[in-house]
Amino acid sequence: MTLLKAKIAKPVIFPLTFIAAIAVSMGFALSYIESNSKKNIHTSLETILQISQEALILWSGSRLDDLSDIASDPDIIALTSTLLDTHNNKSDHLNSAALNSLRSMMVHKMSKHEDKGFFIIAPDRSSVASMRDSNMGTENIINKVRKSHLDRVFLGEEVFIPTIHSDVPLETKTGALRAHEPTLFIAAPIMDKNGQVLAVLTLRLNPLVHFTRITELGRIGNSGETYGFDNKGLLITRSRFTHHLKSTGEIGNDEIAMLSIRIADPGGNLLKGYVPYRPMNERPLTLMATRAISGDTTAYLESYRDYRGVLVFGAWLWNDDLGVGLTTEIDADEALLTFQLTRTIILSVMTLIILLTLGLVIIPLWFQEREKKALRKYNENLEQTVLERTVELEQANENLKALSEIDPLTGIANRRLYEHTLSKEMASAKRTLHPVSLIIIDIDNFKLYNDNYGHDEGDVILRKVAKLIANSTARTTDLVARYGGEEFAVVMPATDEEGAFHLASLIRNYVEAQGFEHRFSDTANTVTVSIGVASLSGPTFNSTDLFKQADAALYQAKENGRNQVVLYDKDKCGIMSNP
Ligand code: GH3
Ligand code: MG
Ligand code: MG
Repeated sequence: MTLLKAKIAKPVIFPLTFIAAIAVSMGFALSYIESNSKKNIHTSLETILQISQEALILWSGSRLDDLSDIASDPDIIALTSTLLDTHNNKSDHLNSAALNSLRSMMVHKMSKHEDKGFFIIAPDRSSVASMRDSNMGTENIINKVRKSHLDRVFLGEEVFIPTIHSDVPLETKTGALRAHEPTLFIAAPIMDKNGQVLAVLTLRLNPLVHFTRITELGRIGNSGETYGFDNKGLLITRSRFTHHLKSTGEIGNDEIAMLSIRIADPGGNLLKGYVPYRPMNERPLTLMATRAISGDTTAYLESYRDYRGVLVFGAWLWNDDLGVGLTTEIDADEALLTFQLTRTIILSVMTLIILLTLGLVIIPLWFQEREKKALRKYNENLEQTVLERTVELEQANENLKALSEIDPLTGIANRRLYEHTLSKEMASAKRTLHPVSLIIIDIDNFKLYNDNYGHDEGDVILRKVAKLIANSTARTTDLVARYGGEEFAVVMPATDEEGAFHLASLIRNYVEAQGFEHRFSDTANTVTVSIGVASLSGPTFNSTDLFKQADAALYQAKENGRNQVVLYDKDKCGIMSNP
C-alpha cells in the first residue's frame, strides 16, 4: 500500500500543483467578487437611503411651509393671543368664542391633508387650543415625550416631531378608537408682530399616510426595507415584516409594528425559531441603530443582525433636522444571491476540474498497477507450476532410476545396482574393516529346463527362485540381485563367511524344498541351485577379488556335482560345502 502510494505520489505532484494553483486563484477571484458584491450592495442601499431621506425632507419641508403659513395667519395669531389671555380660567376658556373660531378655522385647514388634529401650546407648555376639550390646560404630550423638539420651536424653528404614542384615543384603520396609537406632529411658532414666539402651533399627522409611505418606497427586492427610528431606537415607521413579528410573538396580533418595536438585536434569527432570552427593551440596539444614533455613518460592508435577528446588509443616517434615524437594509441571503450563485458555479467547475484531473492521472495509474499485479500473480503461478513440474520430474527421475536398477523379469535389483552396491559396500568396509560377503547362486541344468519346459516356464522358475532368495534374507542391508541369466547374487555387508555360508545353505535348502519339477536335471528330479560363497575384509581387498572367489567357489560346487554350497577357502577352495 505504501509502495502504491509512493508510486502514485510522483505522477500526481504536477496535477496536484495545477489543482492547487487553480484553487488559489479561484479563491482570490471569489473573495474579490465577494468584496465587490458587498460594495455594490452598500452603494445601492446608500442610494435608496439618500432618496428616501430627500423625499422625507421634501415632504416634511412642504408640510412645515404649509404650517408656517397657517401660523402666520393674522386671524390665527389674534385668536391665539386671546386664548393665551384666557387659558388660566378653564371654564371660560373652553366656552370662549376664540376657541370655537380657531377650531373651525383649523378644521378647514386640516382637511386639505386629512390631518388628525392640532394643538396650540402656550410657553408654559400647556395646551391652549385643541380639537378636544380633554387635553386642554394640561401639559402637552409633545413636551412630555419630545421636549427638545418643542424647545426648538419655541426658539423660532419649524420642527418635525417624530412619531410618538398618542395622548388621546385615535381612529385606527378600521375606524375604531384606540389609545396610544402612533401619532406624528409638525410644529411651527406663532409669532407676534415683533417676532416674539407667542405660542406653538402643531398639527397631528397620521404617520401611516405620508411619513411611512415615503419610507415604504425604499423597499427593494423581497427583503429590502427602509425605516425610521427615534433616538431611543424605537421604530417610528411601519415595519415591512409585521407578519413575521406577529408570528414570532414580538408584537401582539392587533398591534402595528410602529413604536412597539425597538431596533434591538434579539441575539439569533427569530424566523429560524431562535427564542430570545431577554425582553425587547433589555436587548442591545442593533449595530445599525447604535451607530446611527451615535452619528456614526461610516460605510459598513459586513452583515449584522437586524431587529428580527436576520443577517442583513445596511446603510444608515441620522437626520438632525428631522430628529430621526433612517436606514435601508436587505437580507444578506438575498443580497448575496448572485454572488452565492457565482460561487456555487465556480466551486462546481473547480470540483469537476479536480475530479477530471485526478481521474486522468489516477485511473491510468490504477490500470497500470492492476496489470502489474496480474503480471506478478502470473509470474508467481508460473514459478509455482515450474516448482511443481520440477518435483514431478524429480519423482519421474527417481522412478526412472529405480527402473534402471530393477530387473524387469524378477522385480529384484539388477546387475547395475548389484555392481553399485557392491563397490559402495566395499569402500565402506575398507574404512570400517568389517567383512563383506558375497553369495552367487546358479540354477542347475537350467538350459535343459528351458529346452524341455519352454522359455516361459523357465521365466516362471526364475521369478520363483528370485522371490525365494529375497525372502531368505533377514537384513535390510543385504542386497539380492539378478546377476545375469539364471544367476543371482546376495551382497551382505558386515557379514562374515560363516553368516554368509549359513544363509547360502538356507537358500539352497529352501529351493530344493519347493520341489519344482525338473525331470531333465541330472542332479535331481526338482529344480536345485549351486552356490558359491566368499567373504573378504581388510583395507586392500576389492570387489573383483571377492567376485572371483565367490565364482570360483560356485565353479567348485558345480564341479562337485551341483545342488550344494561351497565356501571359498583362501588356501584350498571349497573347504566347507553343503550338503
Ligand atoms: P549348469 O548346471 O552347468 O549351470 O548348466 P546350465 O544349463 O544351467 O547352464 P548353461 O550356462 O549351459 O545354461 C544356462 C541357461 O539358462 C541358458 C538359457 O537357456 C537359460 N537362461 C538364461 N537366461 C534366461 C532367461 O532369462 N529366461 C529363461 N527362461 N532362460 C534363461
Ligand atoms: Mg549359469
Ligand atoms: Mg546353471
